[in-house]
Amino acid sequence: MPGIRIDKNYCKGCELCVKACPMQIISMSKEINVKGYFSAKVHEPSKCIGCRICAVTCPDVAIEVLSHGTQFVLFEY
Ligand code: SF4
Ligand code: SF4
Repeated sequence: MPGIRIDKNYCKGCELCVKACPMQIISMSKEINVKGYFSAKVHEPSKCIGCRICAVTCPDVAIEVLSHGTQFVLFEY
């Protein structure tokens, strides 16, 4: 099963990943991060298909995807 990690403190709450996920398994949490934004979370990780659209979409590189033994990190801060 693919793994998704959203670094909540990189998130700026833009919701682009919420709209981009084809499985509609990302939503906004009620938790406020260090920047003062509500951050994104994966609410049904077992439904993730590892497509990485969320990671590519995120303008703040807050999402990492682990799929088929490969960790996809687009950039490092
Ligand atoms: S990898 Fe694809 S299915 Fe999984 S959370 Fe991201 S956009 Fe959704
Ligand atoms: S696309 Fe990135 S910055 Fe925007 S809500 Fe999702 S995780 Fe946060």
